[in-house]
Amino acid sequence: MAVKITGYETHDIRFPTSLTGDGTDAMNTDCDYSAAYVKLFTSTDLTGYGLTFTIGRGNDIVCMAIKELANRLLGKEVEELFANMGMTWDYLSADSQLRWIGPEKGVIHIALGAVGNALWDMYARARGKPLWKLVVDMTPEELVNATAFRYITDAITREEALEMLKAKAATKAEREARVKELGYPAYVTSAGWLGYSDEKVARLTKEAVEAGFNHFKMKVGADRDSDLRRGKIMRSIIDDPQYLPSGHKARDPNSPELVGKNAGPTGSVLMIDANQVWDVPQAIDYVKSLAEIKPWFIEEPTAPDDILGHAAIRKALKPYGIGVATGEHAHNRMVFKQLLQAEAIDVCQIDSCRLGGVSEVLSVLLMAAKFGVPVCPHAGGVGLCEYVIHLSLIDYIAISGTMERNVLEFVDHLHEHFLYPCSINKNGRYNVPSNPVEGYSIEMHQTSIAEFEWPHGSYWVNARAKA
Ligand SMILES: [Mg+2]
Repeated sequence: MAVKITGYETHDIRFPTSLTGDGTDAMNTDCDYSAAYVKLFTSTDLTGYGLTFTIGRGNDIVCMAIKELANRLLGKEVEELFANMGMTWDYLSADSQLRWIGPEKGVIHIALGAVGNALWDMYARARGKPLWKLVVDMTPEELVNATAFRYITDAITREEALEMLKAKAATKAEREARVKELGYPAYVTSAGWLGYSDEKVARLTKEAVEAGFNHFKMKVGADRDSDLRRGKIMRSIIDDPQYLPSGHKARDPNSPELVGKNAGPTGSVLMIDANQVWDVPQAIDYVKSLAEIKPWFIEEPTAPDDILGHAAIRKALKPYGIGVATGEHAHNRMVFKQLLQAEAIDVCQIDSCRLGGVSEVLSVLLMAAKFGVPVCPHAGGVGLCEYVIHLSLIDYIAISGTMERNVLEFVDHLHEHFLYPCSINKNGRYNVPSNPVEGYSIEMHQTSIAEFEWPHGSYWVNARAKA
C-alpha cells in the first residue's frame, strides 16, 4: 500500500528567554524564542517534523497558517511528493487563494518554511539518512529538480545549475570526508547581545575563545559609545594570545580564509549586527565611526527589503574595509537574487525557515555560488543551529565546494529541547550530524512541548500562578 499523509499537529511553543536578555539586539528587545512546530503523520510510522522560528507573540498566527498549508498535503502519496520536491514546493507555495496573503512573504511563507522542512525531514527519514546526506547523494539532475526555480532564471538557469553541480560531483566524496574529520567552521554571537553587562560580555568572550572559536559577532546600534566600548572589550580579548586555548596557535591574518576579514593579530575576526535599525545615511555614518574595532562586516544595517540601500552602504563602507551581510529577513529567493545582482552583499545569510524550506534554500545556494558570494547561514533562535548545519554541508559538499572562508552562526541556547541536538568540537566547529534516523534534526522532546506550549504548558501555567 502506498504511504500517504494522513494528518498533522501544530504546537505553539514559547521559551521565556526575555527573562535573561538572551537574544536582545537593537531592534528585538524582549524576545521569547518560539517555535511554530508541525508534525506530519502518514499511514505508517513515518513522521516528518518541522518548525519555523518566531520571537513570541504571533507564533499562534503562524500555527494557523501552517494548518492551511498542511491541509493541502492530506491524502497525498509521499513517494510522489518526494519524486520531485521542486514540483511539490511549487504546489505548496502556489495555492490559488493562500498566495494572496503573501505571495511568498510574511506569515504564510514562514509557515511554508515549517511545512516544507517537515516534508524534507520525512523524506530523509524515509531514506534512513540525515537530511544533508540525502541531498548531497542526489545526482545533479535530482538536486536541480528539488530546487525552487520559478522567478530566478534570469540569474541562473537549470542548465547552468546542472553544469555547476556536475563540475563538483566527482569531488563530493573528498569534501564529505574532510568535513567529517574537521567539522564545519562556526562563529559565536552569544557573547555580544545588547542586554548583557560589560562583565558578562568579557566573561563570555573569554569562554568562546577558550572553546576554540575565532569569529565573534556583536550586536550594535542602540548606543554608539557603548558599542565602541564593548567592541574594544571583545577585541582586547580575542586579539590577545594569552587567552588562546592551550595547544592553539595564533592564525595568520593573511591566510586565504582570513584575508579581507579585518582579522586581528591572532587571526580573530569580529563582526557586527544592527538588526535593521538605521536609515541608509545613518548606517554609513555609524559604521564608519566603529571602524577602529575593525569589523569584517555590518549585518542587517537597514530594512531587509532595501536592496539598493544595501548596495549604497556597501559602496560607502568599502574604503574602510568593512563589508555588508544580510539575509536572515530576506523573505524569498527573489530578494536574494536582487541582492546578488545589485552587488549589495559580501556575505549571504540564508535563513532555514524564513525561506520556504530546503527547496528554496537550494535555489539561493546555487545563485550565491554562481555569484561567488559566501553563504554564512543565520542561526541561533530555537532550532536554527540544528537546521543550518545541514544546509552548510550541502553548500560545501555539493554546491560551492568552499568552507574555510565561510562560518556558520552558533548560539548555545535551547539545544536540550531536541532529540538530535547540534554540537561543536574542541576547535569551535560544528560536528557533522550522522544519525541515520535524525532527518533534519528538528524533532523536539515531547517533555519540552508539554512544558513550554503556549498558553497551557506547565511552565506558563506556573508562571501565571506566581505572577
Ligand atoms: Mg542577525
